[in-house]
Amino acid sequence: MSQITRRRFIQIGGAAVGGAAVVSGLSSRWWGLDADRVDDPGTEGDRVVASFCELCFWNCGVLAHVKDGKVTKVTGNPDHPLSLGMLCPRGAGATGMIYDPDRLRKPLVRTSKRGDDVFEEVSWDAALNKVAEGLLKVKERHGPEAVALFTHGFGGSWFKHLMKVWGSPNVGAPSYAQCRGPREAGYQLTYGAGLGSPEPVDIENARVITLIGSHLGENMHNTQVQELAEAVGKGAQLVVVDPRYSVAAGKARYWLPVKPGTDIALLLAWMNVLFEEGLYDAAYLARWATGVEELRAHVASRTPEWAWPITGIRPELIRESARLIASARPASLVHPGRHTTWYGDDTQRARAMAILAAMLGSWGHRGGYLATGKYPLASHPVPKLPERPSARPADRPKAGGYPVADEVIASGLCDATTPGHALYDLKAWIVYGTNLIQAMPDTRKTIAAIQNLDLLVAIDILPAEICGWADVVLPECTYLERDDDLAAPAYKRPFVAVRQAAVEPMYESKPGWWIAKEIGTRVGLGAWFPWKDAREYVDTRLAASKVDVAEIRKKGAVLGPRVATCVEEGAAPPIATPSGKILLFSEELKGLGFDPIPTYYPQDEGPPGTMRLLTGRSPTHTFGRTTNNRLLSQPYPENEVWVNAQVARSLPVPVRNGDWVVLVNQDGARAGPVRAKVTERIRGDCVYLVHGWGHTAKGLRYARGRGASDSDLITRYKVDPIMGGTGMNVNFVRIEPVEKPS
Ligand code: SF4
Repeated sequence: MSQITRRRFIQIGGAAVGGAAVVSGLSSRWWGLDADRVDDPGTEGDRVVASFCELCFWNCGVLAHVKDGKVTKVTGNPDHPLSLGMLCPRGAGATGMIYDPDRLRKPLVRTSKRGDDVFEEVSWDAALNKVAEGLLKVKERHGPEAVALFTHGFGGSWFKHLMKVWGSPNVGAPSYAQCRGPREAGYQLTYGAGLGSPEPVDIENARVITLIGSHLGENMHNTQVQELAEAVGKGAQLVVVDPRYSVAAGKARYWLPVKPGTDIALLLAWMNVLFEEGLYDAAYLARWATGVEELRAHVASRTPEWAWPITGIRPELIRESARLIASARPASLVHPGRHTTWYGDDTQRARAMAILAAMLGSWGHRGGYLATGKYPLASHPVPKLPERPSARPADRPKAGGYPVADEVIASGLCDATTPGHALYDLKAWIVYGTNLIQAMPDTRKTIAAIQNLDLLVAIDILPAEICGWADVVLPECTYLERDDDLAAPAYKRPFVAVRQAAVEPMYESKPGWWIAKEIGTRVGLGAWFPWKDAREYVDTRLAASKVDVAEIRKKGAVLGPRVATCVEEGAAPPIATPSGKILLFSEELKGLGFDPIPTYYPQDEGPPGTMRLLTGRSPTHTFGRTTNNRLLSQPYPENEVWVNAQVARSLPVPVRNGDWVVLVNQDGARAGPVRAKVTERIRGDCVYLVHGWGHTAKGLRYARGRGASDSDLITRYKVDPIMGGTGMNVNFVRIEPVEKPS
C-alpha cells in the first residue's frame, strides 16, 4: 500500500466527481458553513483526536483536528488499517455533518397526526419518560417481543444491547435484507460462512479483478478503492459486467454491458468455458471441493452461444473474458459486491460468483479471498439475564421461512407490524440511524405499517423523513461528539480501534450510549447498564483485554498479531462447511427444494415503453444520509437519471442532456423532477439513478426537493425465497419531460 499516491487514488475513486474533494484535509475551508466566515482558520496548534468515521459503515480511522473547541478538519489516520492515512470524500466531509445547521437540536414529541411532521420541543426528561412509558405499556399488553429495533451504523450496538436485556429478538437492519444479505447467504452455502464487512478480498494482489454490478470507485469503500488503485497501478486487469459504463468500466480491459437480470447466464457460460477449455483449477477443486462433476454436467450446455441471446454479450467476448479471468488464477478475484438485492434470485447469483471463485482456486489464495482474524477482546461484565422463554423473531410468517437467512429481515419486521401478516404483531419501533422511508422498498407499505404502531421512536442526527412519522424524536450527536464501543472486525490484519469524542455535543444532542442507558434505566433495566459512560465501558474492556489504554487512545487503533491469510502464507483455505469442502452442489438447497446449482431463469420484462430502473451510489454520498451535507453536495448536488442517448432521441418527446424529466413507474408512482444525463454509457433497456435523493422532509432544507427518489419508484420487489432479501431492480419507468422547476 505504500506506493499509493493521492493522484492514483483520485484517478480511480474521484473520476466520477471530477477529481474534486477527495482524500482528506480539504474540509477546513468549509469552516464557514455554520458561521459568518469563509476563511480557512488554519490548523496549526490543533488538538488532534483519533477516532473512526461514521459517514459510512466502513469505519475508517480518522484524526479530528480541533481548534477553539471546533473540528476544523478530519484527515485519515495512518495508524488505522482501514484508512491507511486517507479518507474517501465523504469522510473528509465530516465537518459538513457536524456543522449542518439542520441538525436535530432538542428532543421532539409529536403534536399532530402521524406524518404531519409537527412536533414540540421537550426536555430530555419528558421525552425519555414518554419513550419508557410507551415501551412499558407495549410490554404489558403484548410482551417485550412486540418492540422492534431497526438499526444502521456502529452506534446501534448500544440499542442492540438494550433490546437484548429488554427481551426482544426483533432487531433488524436494512443493510441485510435490502443490501448484502443475498451475498452472505450465497457464500455461506458455498464456503460455510458469509463474508461480513470489510469483505476478505485481496484486491491489492489480484492480477485480474472481475466486478459484477459492483461500482467500486463510485461505491467508496476506502481501503478497497485504495487497493484497486494500487492493483491497477501494478497492471491488474479489470473485467466489468454492468449495463452501465461505470467509473470502474472506464479502467477495464473488458466492459460487458450485460442485459439486466441475466448475470447468472453469463456466469454459467464462463464456467462452461473454464471446463471446456480446461482453464479451471482442477487440482484445487479435487482437493477442496465436492460436486465438480455435477457442476460440469450442469453447465455443459450453457455455452457462450446459449448465453448470447440472453445476456446480449457476444460469444467471443464471453470466451475472451473467461480466458483473461482464468489466466491470472488463483490471483483472479471475482469481487462479491455489496448491494446485491436485485432480482429476487440473488442468493443464487452470489452462489454462482462464489462457485466461479472456487473454479479459479482463488478462495484462500493471495489475490483472491483471504482468511482473516479478529482482535481478541473481553466483554464488559453485565449481570446474568433472568431465564425467560425466547420468542421467535416476527420477521418470518412461517416457521422455516427464508431458511438460510442468519439475520432478522427488516422488511419482515415491517410486514409483522401489519395485523394478520405474522406470528405476532409488532407494536413499537425504535429506529436508530436509518431512514426507513428511503431504505425500505415500497414506501407506502412502510407508512401503512407505521400507522399500526403504538409507539415510534426515531433516534437520528438530522430530521430525515422517518423522524416526521415518529412519536418521539431523540437527537443524537455526531460521531465526532461521542464515544462508542470498540471496533474490531475480522480483517486480514486484526486490529482494535476506539471512537472518542473530539468535541462536546452541540445543541442538546446526546450520544447513543447515553440515550440507551437512560431508556434502559427508565424501564427498570438499569442494572444491565453498569457503566458510568462509554469511556468507562471501553476502558474496562481494553484493560481486561490487556490493551494499552493510553496507546490506543493516542493512536486510535492498535494492531493484533499477524495471522496467516492465505495458502502462500501457510494457511489452509478458510472453509467452514461441516465437511470442510467447498460445496459446488448444495445438498442443503436441494433438501429445501431449491436448485442445488445456480440456474438461469428469465426475469419479467416491463410494460412497452418502459426501462428497468437500476440504482447505485455516488462517491460523495452515503445513501440519503449525506445529501443535506453542503460540503459533500458541492461536487454532487443532486442525482440525475442516466438515459441511453438513442432512446432519449426516440422518445415521443425527445429528451436532451440536462433536460428536466419526471420518472413514472409501472404502477403510476412518480419521482422527480430530475435532470436527464443522456449518454451512450448505458444500455437502452434501463435507466440509472443514484440512491438517496428526492427528499421530502421539510427540515432538510438543502436536500429537500433535489433530484429524484428511487425509493418512490420501488413499489414492487421480488423476495428471495432463500434468505428473504428484497430484489428491487424489478421496477420499470417511462420518462416524461417537464418544465424546469421554479
Ligand atoms: Fe468514512 Fe469514507 Fe471510510 Fe466510509 S469509506 S468510513 S465514509 S472515510
